[in-house]
Amino acid sequence: MDYSKSKDSTTSGLQDSDSDVNDEDKNELCPGFKDADAFVKYGLGAVLSATKASAGLPQTGDEYDFYRSFPGFQEFCESQGDKLLHCMSQIMQYHGCRSHIRDRNKLTGLEERFDLVVDSNEVILERAGILLDEADGVNRGQKPVMPAGFQPPKIVVSSWNRKGSGSGSRSETFKLLHAKNVVRPQLKFKEKIDNSNTPFIPKIFIKPNAIKPLPSYFTNKQIRKERPEDLDVPAALADFIHQQRTREHVDDMFAHPYQYELDHLSVTESLLAKPEPQMYKPMAETKLTFIDSLEDLVALNEKLCKLSEFAVDLEHHSYRSFLGLTSLMQISTREEDFIIDTLELRSEMYILNEVFTDPAIVKVFHGADSDIEWLQKDFGLYIVNLFDTHQASRALNLARHSLDHLLKHFCDVDSDKRYQLADWRIRPIPDEMIQYARTDTHYLLYIYDRVRGQLLDSNHGQPGLLQCVWNKSKDVSLKKYVKPIYTEESYLEVQRKQKKSFNTQQLTAFRLLFAWRDKLARQEDESTGYVLPTHMMSKISEELPKEPQGIIACCYPVPPLVRQQVNELHLFVQQAREMPLLKAEIAAQKKKGLTPVKKPEVALFGPHDTSRASESDLPHLSPHEAPVKQGILFSENEHKMDVDVQKTSGLLAPPKVTLFQEAETRDDQTAIAVAQMKARRIIESFENPFRMYLPSTDVHVNKNAKFDPSSKIFEISKRWKLQSIEQQQKELEAKRKVKDEAKQQAKKASEERTKAKQSYQESLKNVVTVRQQAAESAKGNQKKRERVDSEVGETTPKPSKKLLKSEEKPQKTEAPPQDGFKPFDYSQSDLKVFAGTKSKDNTQFDPNRQAHGFKKKRTPQGQKNNFASGNRSMSYLGGKSDRGFRHNWPKR
Ligand code: AMP
Ligand code: MN
Ligand code: ZN
Repeated sequence: MDYSKSKDSTTSGLQDSDSDVNDEDKNELCPGFKDADAFVKYGLGAVLSATKASAGLPQTGDEYDFYRSFPGFQEFCESQGDKLLHCMSQIMQYHGCRSHIRDRNKLTGLEERFDLVVDSNEVILERAGILLDEADGVNRGQKPVMPAGFQPPKIVVSSWNRKGSGSGSRSETFKLLHAKNVVRPQLKFKEKIDNSNTPFIPKIFIKPNAIKPLPSYFTNKQIRKERPEDLDVPAALADFIHQQRTREHVDDMFAHPYQYELDHLSVTESLLAKPEPQMYKPMAETKLTFIDSLEDLVALNEKLCKLSEFAVDLEHHSYRSFLGLTSLMQISTREEDFIIDTLELRSEMYILNEVFTDPAIVKVFHGADSDIEWLQKDFGLYIVNLFDTHQASRALNLARHSLDHLLKHFCDVDSDKRYQLADWRIRPIPDEMIQYARTDTHYLLYIYDRVRGQLLDSNHGQPGLLQCVWNKSKDVSLKKYVKPIYTEESYLEVQRKQKKSFNTQQLTAFRLLFAWRDKLARQEDESTGYVLPTHMMSKISEELPKEPQGIIACCYPVPPLVRQQVNELHLFVQQAREMPLLKAEIAAQKKKGLTPVKKPEVALFGPHDTSRASESDLPHLSPHEAPVKQGILFSENEHKMDVDVQKTSGLLAPPKVTLFQEAETRDDQTAIAVAQMKARRIIESFENPFRMYLPSTDVHVNKNAKFDPSSKIFEISKRWKLQSIEQQQKELEAKRKVKDEAKQQAKKASEERTKAKQSYQESLKNVVTVRQQAAESAKGNQKKRERVDSEVGETTPKPSKKLLKSEEKPQKTEAPPQDGFKPFDYSQSDLKVFAGTKSKDNTQFDPNRQAHGFKKKRTPQGQKNNFASGNRSMSYLGGKSDRGFRHNWPKR
């Protein structure tokens, strides 16, 4: 029968491999298999034929009964069945599971046996997960809970990390590329990584090749280093103080430091002319320098200064770090290749800005979008005069725009992109990875020549298309790094992508898990994917397991942090289960593009008013809020929907107590006492601090009520109109001022240029000191690393201080507070921060304001959730170390 056939092939397979490896049996992964690949291949084959064989067995029912009437069949079944059970028992025993599967006395029935198999499967799969984690380097320090009797393996070996044959001794035959021994490079970083939930502020503190000098914010280390969480006052107050202090810098803080220079960069004639392609040197004849010391980096910088172009690429690691780590930089000139260990030289890389921002030197990248962001994020490096061969490939309409394709097309080089996703933190870097990294830049200057030629040719020798690529490249270099910011809505976007329609309980679980994951990832400096992959988060939310073990069952392999905090996670699930169960039909509604909630006439409005809830606002359901079913206007079952809304609208409690008049909807005006009237008038004189991040005023007012003079809303809307007229006048004045200032600035501009040159001259001096330093440290041999570390750590920031003294004199008025906390003088504070100023005038620090990444989300409802801070899920938000995570920043 089929079964015996497959068994035959099994044995013959084993024999084959036996005879194969007789000569080198010491090298075997396990008896009969020379490596894991062979084992897996064989295993898959066996599983496949076993599956086929079992499908070929007589079907239950008549067919089986018929066969069973033959004694021969019965016998065969029994003997094979016993063999199978024996085999399973052995496997189970090996894994330390209950295994009396054959002992008919101890088992009552099939069901129990089945349970036994299921249990064992779970244990085995979990064990596999743990081993994979181990191999991946997950298990640092914190030992996960292991199944009883589990022995962690000593060596992990597999084919993808096998070293090329003939290199090194036997013991070196295997090398871990996804090594578990990778030391977290973050531990060595001189500057702590900032994972706080605040927007990214450029790292730059010295600006070579400046036409416009670096704003004082960046040259003044004191202001930069201050963070609200360092103040020893309550959180809200600390934020307020921080806002006040950073107000005047806010525009600088989020601008591209080289915006001005890039705006004024023009492509020189020579770069638009047709080049004579300069053939690349064969890789074997090209010198490769690995750079991991400051002196070598400085020497490289010197070399690059003299060139007119060079090629650059980066390798990045993103799994075991929240924001990712730029791990390698490859640079190729026409003559040489360089590979920089950017983990080692992370805080020194900034010196390359001298060549990277030199408009006379072309930097050639392929697909620089991410590279531009990584350079900013990790090193404060910027590119002025970029040529992106990816943009060229697009403009040329080539078949594909990947680097492999260009390499094949122009250089007939087959590149192996296998290493693209390798763990680039590994040190020392294996030869194959170096080779791969080097290929990414080695041919790029030649490709740069060739594509420029083709861009001119395809445009009849006219520079239009080439110019277009230069412009596109410039746009890429203008990109700004945007840090991922957690908001109370972030989870929705991720959930939507899962394309699963969740009910309120599931959505709540997803929200809580998402918040937990984000918080932990920032804290532990791990990627969110490492903490809890989205598909697992989605599965847990979908299933809402009743037991902690159920959470584990949703995750294969179980992420170490999930295992560690499974009880915490289970509490989230329980909390979600307590939610009133309503089907949130967001997904369905999105598809249909339907209107927001149709709601009964509610006169209340204000910051806590949910009546204007839009689709995107809907799922903000904290356990303190009742869910609103999304209504469908003009749907077939309109009546049913209305009933639903009425049911739920009763759950929407209007605020009973409020400081601000908008929320009031009392109509028993006459019934209130004089004192109450007075109190109300006082209250009404307050401005609503939330107003500035409410949507524009008229969205806010019920359209009909606004024109009904008897309504309170009319009164308010009138007052707002008055206010807006006042505001307009203010704005006009401000504009006039701006115009005047612009004139003055034009005058100043020329002065500034000379100033900038001066300042750069000075900064150059400092760069020289870095070089001297490097030269010096090159002398000392043994203490080399030590000294470079300590000296650079302390001396590099000096340039900024010098600059500050000599050049940025007007700054002294600012007198940034330094040693510890100074009481804040509120009489001097500008209370306009609470006024509803328009964004243009508003110089208030707003972390949500992030370059292109900032989407204006008009979600008055978003504020609501702040009131849920007493709730369990948010309980970790209060801690001081979590300051960055709090969401008390206003949104506009
Ligand atoms: P490359 O410029 O192709 O060498 O890629 C640079 C870095 O981008 C790599 O080190 C990876 O971290 C990342 N990367 C490239 N391709 C992918 C991909 N397909 N998926 C995820 N990350 C990638
Ligand atoms: Mn790249
Ligand atoms: Zn690369």
